[in-house]
Amino acid sequence: MKIHKIKTFADKPLKPALTPALSIEQSISALKTPINNIKGVGTKLTEALSRKNIKTVEDMLYYLPRDYIDMRKIQNISMLKPGMFAVITGKVLSPGRTSFLGSKKIFELLINDGTGTLKAKWFNISSAYLNILRKKHCVNQKVIVSGFVSEFRFQKEMHHPDIDVVSESDNIDKNLKIVPVYPLTEGVHQKTLQKIIRHVVETCACIVPDLVPEKVKTMLNLIPIQKALKKVHFPSSDDRIEDLRSFSSPYHYRIVFDEFFLLQSVLALKKRSVSLETGIQFKIPTSKLSGFVSSLPFSLTGAQKNALEDIISDMKKSCPMNRLLQGDVGSGKTVVALAACLISIWNGFQSAFMAPTEILAEQHYRTVKALLGGIGITTILITGSHTKSEKQGALDSIRLGMANLIIGTHSLIQESVRFHKLGITIVDEQHKFGVMQRAELKKKGTNPDILVMTATPIPRTLGLTVYGDLDVSIINELPPGRTPVQTKVFHENRRQAVYSMAHKELEKDNQVFIVYPLVEASEKSDLMDATRMATHLQQDIFNEYKVGLVHGRMPAKEKNSVMKEFQSGNINILVATTVVEVGIDIPNASLIIIEHAERFGLSQLHQLRGRVGRGDSDSICILLAQYKKSGDAEKRLAVMEKTSDGFRIAEEDFNIRGPGEFLGTRQSGMPDFRVARIGRDINILLEARKAAFSIFENDPEIRLPENQSLRKILLEKRKGRFELAGIG
Ligand code: ADP
Ligand code: MG
Repeated sequence: MKIHKIKTFADKPLKPALTPALSIEQSISALKTPINNIKGVGTKLTEALSRKNIKTVEDMLYYLPRDYIDMRKIQNISMLKPGMFAVITGKVLSPGRTSFLGSKKIFELLINDGTGTLKAKWFNISSAYLNILRKKHCVNQKVIVSGFVSEFRFQKEMHHPDIDVVSESDNIDKNLKIVPVYPLTEGVHQKTLQKIIRHVVETCACIVPDLVPEKVKTMLNLIPIQKALKKVHFPSSDDRIEDLRSFSSPYHYRIVFDEFFLLQSVLALKKRSVSLETGIQFKIPTSKLSGFVSSLPFSLTGAQKNALEDIISDMKKSCPMNRLLQGDVGSGKTVVALAACLISIWNGFQSAFMAPTEILAEQHYRTVKALLGGIGITTILITGSHTKSEKQGALDSIRLGMANLIIGTHSLIQESVRFHKLGITIVDEQHKFGVMQRAELKKKGTNPDILVMTATPIPRTLGLTVYGDLDVSIINELPPGRTPVQTKVFHENRRQAVYSMAHKELEKDNQVFIVYPLVEASEKSDLMDATRMATHLQQDIFNEYKVGLVHGRMPAKEKNSVMKEFQSGNINILVATTVVEVGIDIPNASLIIIEHAERFGLSQLHQLRGRVGRGDSDSICILLAQYKKSGDAEKRLAVMEKTSDGFRIAEEDFNIRGPGEFLGTRQSGMPDFRVARIGRDINILLEARKAAFSIFENDPEIRLPENQSLRKILLEKRKGRFELAGIG
């Protein structure tokens, strides 16, 4: 849109009814008009606002008030109490008085409303502002003043209040409304912002295109977006102030809905485009598969069977599988994934299994070898501990197709690994892998199936935004015979009691994990460290047992041999850092002691706790905490004691830390919303998702006339923010 054209917008506020009908494309481009084209916005203000990321007319429309002031209830000055927020109206009693405090200017006005007097005070103001105030106010003038009340020498005061002059003829009620309060930045005054935004809202809210199809709006009773934008800034005087202040007014609802609806539409679109890709259409060798399942030392749980069914039905389809398998720690995801790998292999393809750590890759390798016994499949492990020639041999056998099942860490997506014919990739513990890596992996084959597994369930709602384009299977059942792990917080003074609990478990021939936050003591901190404590525990506390040590700085070979010894029971107590965090499976371990538990995050604690309770004996998790701990740490430990449900824990973690922290917005591809807050607006997210996906279900190409504005907006937006967010 050309500048002179927007000038007409800005200079002559148009009544909505008079607005020229713009096409959606025109509207979108008009909304991108830079704010310096707005009347009253100069270079300085443009700069200041750009610090708040307000660069265009649209940004300004969506820059919502952080609070609202209720100007509808006028109070008597005599009733005011220090500390309260109040609105009063009265007459200016005497000419404004200027005084000095050193070189600083103070301006005062005395106002009387018939019940008492109030002093309005401005401290340390510029000469320019002083002049404005002086000019603006005179004796007997009627004003409306609002602000926080204070008291000084028995005189009620308001400091830097909001003050408006009302003419005698003005009906005061008309001026008493709900006033928006915007988040400020240096160099921008509240009044200025209110004025400019008012202007923008009055002239431009009416051109915001509506992306939500009529049907959805009717069904969900959504108010028009244009109205929502107007009213969210300048509510009607009969609106409920509490709703506005808690961001739960119908106006907020509509704006938040639109943000989610747009994202979910993008996800639905992405999902649809995957479904149009050609992948590998696997045949399911049913009898071989059931042979494998019945060869297992256990029978699959119902939830495992369901997940496998989902996977099988994906693998049969011609489009690639893109599935997320969520299941709490110990729910048995590995064996389900292994079955999927076998299907691919039996179809003449290779399967890749990626784990987040070497220890875990090694463990998967051992598990798989054991489970596959005589099936006649070549499994290889790629780790950092290979010699150069070992590694070359492994790479060759992958490239030539001699290796069927390839297990490794991130290294599997490195350039040097070339597959002969990759059919499926399993990504274990997805939260350790970024979205980018997922994309990398895909390039390794011609659209292989992808199964992502996670035991750190991202809260469901968050999952809907980050992994919203994946299909999800959930294993919500633990194998039979497991009793939940008992969790207790202990403090330093009970250390001896904790050691005797360990002795009790050891006497029963069970094994024990003791986890530390650090490998070695550092000079700066007083944290206990794994290395020193391992020696101490071996010599002074558990000398009749064997204590092993494993940490991330050990060479891979050494790590693996310690893990093997612990697995075989030669080592009774494993002192470790968080390298044991994910996936390690030692069914005979029945006690885990987490030192400095206050230092760990919730999902980490949950993962660590998942190291026990994997066999038939009752298991215990001791969170050994120091007294010095933050409020958040206190909350985390309480959550751990309260529940062992990984999904609940993830939700709580999310509530304590917020979405940004929870995932690390940037890497995770979490889109940033302008208004919506996932935690607060979960219900709206669910509604929006349902609505968006149902549209794409009924109209996959979004060709129906009623969906045209959505189509156009999607096309426009895909160029912008969403692509940056890694979704486009
Ligand atoms: P996770 O889902 O945390 O990756 P694993 O796949 O490591 O869990 O499985 C945890 C343990 O449960 C393993 O020892 C595995 O052999 C065992 N397991 C898996 N499925 C079953 C089942 N249906 N019945 C009994 N044990 C099972
Ligand atoms: Mg696992």
